[in-house]
Amino acid sequence: MPLSSDLHDKNLMFQCQRCSRTIVRKGSWIKSIKTFRCEGCRSEVPMTYGHKLAIFERHRHLAGKDSK
Ligand SMILES: [Zn+2]
Repeated sequence: MPLSSDLHDKNLMFQCQRCSRTIVRKGSWIKSIKTFRCEGCRSEVPMTYGHKLAIFERHRHLAGKDSK
């Protein structure tokens, strides 16, 4: 399943794997990064392809419910 470009301009929510802080970023940003610096725990957190897929899948599911 590819990372949908429909979500590039959308704010997507995800949780830091270390401290569970909720982070909101554009889909295009999530797609382009391999790690991110968490504002909560100050860790460099790896963002795997599988993790990105899970975020995109969840939001696509939510968007589908609202707009289609
Ligand atoms: Zn964190």
